[in-house]
This record gives sequence, C-alpha cells and structure tokens, in this order.
Amino acid sequence: MNEYDSDKMAAILRAWEGLVLTEHPEDADVILFNTCSIREKAEEKVFSDLGRVRTLKLANPNLLIGVGGCVASQEGDAILKRAPYVDVVFGPQTLHRLPKMLQDRRLTGLSQVDISFPEIEKFDHLPASFQSRADKPQSRSGTAYVSIMEGCSKYCTFCVVPYTRGEEVSRPLHDVLRDVEVLVTQGVKEVTLLGQNVNAYRGMGDDGDIVDFAYLLQSIAALDGIERLRYTTSHPREMTQRLIDLYAIQPKLVSHLHLPVQSGSDRILAAMKRGHTVLEYKSIIRRIREARPDICITSDFIVGFPGETEQDFEATMKLIDEVGFDNSFSYLYSPRPGTPAAELRDNTPHEIKAARLMRLQELVEQQEEKVALGMLGTTQRALVEGLSKKSDRELAARTDNNRIVNFSGTADMIGQFVEVKITQLVHHTLRGEMANKMMNFQ
Ligand code: SAM
Repeated sequence: MNEYDSDKMAAILRAWEGLVLTEHPEDADVILFNTCSIREKAEEKVFSDLGRVRTLKLANPNLLIGVGGCVASQEGDAILKRAPYVDVVFGPQTLHRLPKMLQDRRLTGLSQVDISFPEIEKFDHLPASFQSRADKPQSRSGTAYVSIMEGCSKYCTFCVVPYTRGEEVSRPLHDVLRDVEVLVTQGVKEVTLLGQNVNAYRGMGDDGDIVDFAYLLQSIAALDGIERLRYTTSHPREMTQRLIDLYAIQPKLVSHLHLPVQSGSDRILAAMKRGHTVLEYKSIIRRIREARPDICITSDFIVGFPGETEQDFEATMKLIDEVGFDNSFSYLYSPRPGTPAAELRDNTPHEIKAARLMRLQELVEQQEEKVALGMLGTTQRALVEGLSKKSDRELAARTDNNRIVNFSGTADMIGQFVEVKITQLVHHTLRGEMANKMMNFQ
C-alpha cells in the first residue's frame, strides 16, 4: 500500500510541476518521506532519516521536505515540534492535496499540516494509473497495483491502522474497472488489488447496489488482457464462501493466498479481538484447498502479544505445522500508542519472545523450502518482471504461487508470460530454464 501511495505521490507531482524522480537527494527540489507506523521501529526510522536530509537545505534553500503516511497521520503537528525544518505533513488520505500544500508553503512561508480523512476524495484526484514503478530502472513490468479500498474497521487491539488510515472505505466498481482498463492499454497483464482488508471490499455497483469482493474479482477477470489477479491483504473474517468458491472456477485468480492469522491460540486471538477462532481459520483453509488443492498459503504472525504463554506459542507452532504456511511476515508485538493492547500488562522477557520468533521463522522457512523443493522439475507459467537482482544477464519471473524464478533470457521478454522449467534451488532462490518459446497470452 505504501509503495502504491509513493507511486501516486510521484505521479501527482509530475502532473503538477513536471517533477521527476531522482536517485540523488542532493539534486532534489522536494523530498518526501512516506512513513509507516505499524511497529515502533518503522516509526523511529523517519526521524533519523529526516536528520540526514536536513543539511541539504543549507545548499538548496528552496528544498521542500515533507512527511506523509501513517506516522504523519499519528503525530501531526508533533512532527514540526521535533523537526521544525519540515515543510509539509500529510496523511495517507490527503496525499492528493500535496500540490496545494507545497504551493501554500512557498507562498506563506509557513509549514502546512493536513492529516484529515476526507474519505474517498483521494481517489477522485489521483492521476491516471500506471505500471508499478514504470519510471524506475529495475521496475516490475507487466504488473501493477490497484488500490480498491482503504482503512480498517476491525479494531484489532494491537493495531494502529483504523486510527491512522481511517475506517474501511471502498471505491466504486466502475472506477476500479476503469483503472484496470487503462493499465491494460499500458501492457499490464497482472494486477494486485490492494487494501488493508481487501476482501472487505463493498463498492457501489453500476446500478447503485453494493457489490462484494467476489463480484469485483469476477468483473476484473472478465476484462480482456488481464491474465492474473492477486490481492493483499485479506482478513479471515471476510473470507466468504462466495470468495472461496471462486478458487474452483476462476483460473485467473493465482494459487497464492496471504491470510493473516497472527496467533494459533484462541485465548490470544480473543485478546487481539480478531473475531475468529483457530478452528474457523482452519475451516477456511480446508475449504480453499478443496477448491484449489495446490494453493500456497502465507500469513502474518505477531509473537509476544501481552500475556502470550509458552502454551499459546506452542499452539501457534502447531497451527503453522498443520497448515504448512509457505512464507510469513512475522514480528515481535510492538505496543502502539492509543491502541487497547498497549495498556495490557506484559511480563514476558524480551529474550524469550525473540527466541520464540526465531523458532517460528525457522519452521516457516523449512516449510518454504519444502514447497520450493516440490517445484523442482515442474514447468511453471511465470510473468517476467525484470532483470534478476543478482545479474543483469538474468531475468526474474513470478510464478502463479508467488515464487521468483531466475533464468537466462532476453530483455524483450520483460512483461511477458513464459513457461519456465524449475531446475535448481540455490540458497532459497529458484533457478530455471525456458521450457518453450515465449508465450504471449494476450
Ligand atoms: N488484513 C490484515 C489482518 O488480517 O490483520 C491487516 C494487515 S495489518 C495492516 C499488517 C500486519 O502488521 C498485521 O497483520 C500484523 O501482523 C502486523 N502488525 C500490526 N500491528 C502490529 C503491532 N502492534 N505489532 C506487531 N505487528 C503488528
């Protein structure tokens, strides 16, 4: 979501004053930090980064510095107190107002702060969609992000999102479809639908009725030129049977689902106010696997939530083992100001939590390797996203189940689907060779 928002900021400033991206901060007229406040570490980083660019104002007095994203939303004016040289502070829902804020800063000489939540207004003022990072070298080609909803109304006790991004708001169906159609004309074949709880989508349909996420997926899949659909991040409470059934009938929906569970203990899930039990989560996985047997499941875990006992943690390890998660975003619990869990007592020492996290990550890594080994010898349809990170002479393509495979190929294949035979697994990286001539499914 932040990557999407950063791309939009760049597009807005390009449309406004023809500003272009630079890799060198000393060449910049505007420096924006798009911040994350999901954990404390991410939040602290912004102030050390700000300190680094502050001196650039001495060489370029016209330089404007801005802070956007969820730290801005949370801290507001307090950012100016700690870093008075900051010129604009804007939230995730006001990034479309950047041109006016920068202009006002120039005209008045006063720092500008706007962290309001003007609901869906943001989407009405964004420039036309474009491929992910299309203006950056090493960009992912043939694929793009499309934001379909924002915010969260679940109020999990650990999470700051409802307070920084606001409650769930969905874009109208027509607007999303129009965005995807524009992307197709730019060569996009795969879209990743974005939202804090993407499957909570409830947008206005063409006849004024509210349509759900399954309906939206089917509508996008019906568009010519779209070959693959991904989405992130979903919430277990919004995995409706209609959505699950799509995995049996909609081949454009990839064989990968990221479904955050956070913990494998009912006691902790209740304290987190997740609104589902472990059994209910497992029931979703069982039904998805009935519909799509080869699907890879990934998840988010929070280790060391206040009051998590050894028994609770073992329950999480058991769930990981049972489900066979293929990857995870797993972190230690980080108390977030203003959230209910931040008030809870927590007696578990940090070392114990850190050791738990390490055990959890080792287990998920083993399962990840098992899935990768199972792919050896298979032929995968993969979308070539660009050059490989390690070598300019190699290409990197993404498989349906969200694995990157590197192979030898030519630059004209970027943005195209290829059939790759998986031949090796070297240090967690899949390698392969082209099975057929290039296949363009358009
Ligand atoms: N749809 C998702 C869900 O079901 O919760 C929401 C994703 S949330 C925006 C991103 C992830 O950040 C969460 O799944 C959680 O694992 C992590 N997270 C949020 N608050 C956290 C905190 N206070 N400490 C550690 N991790 C946190």
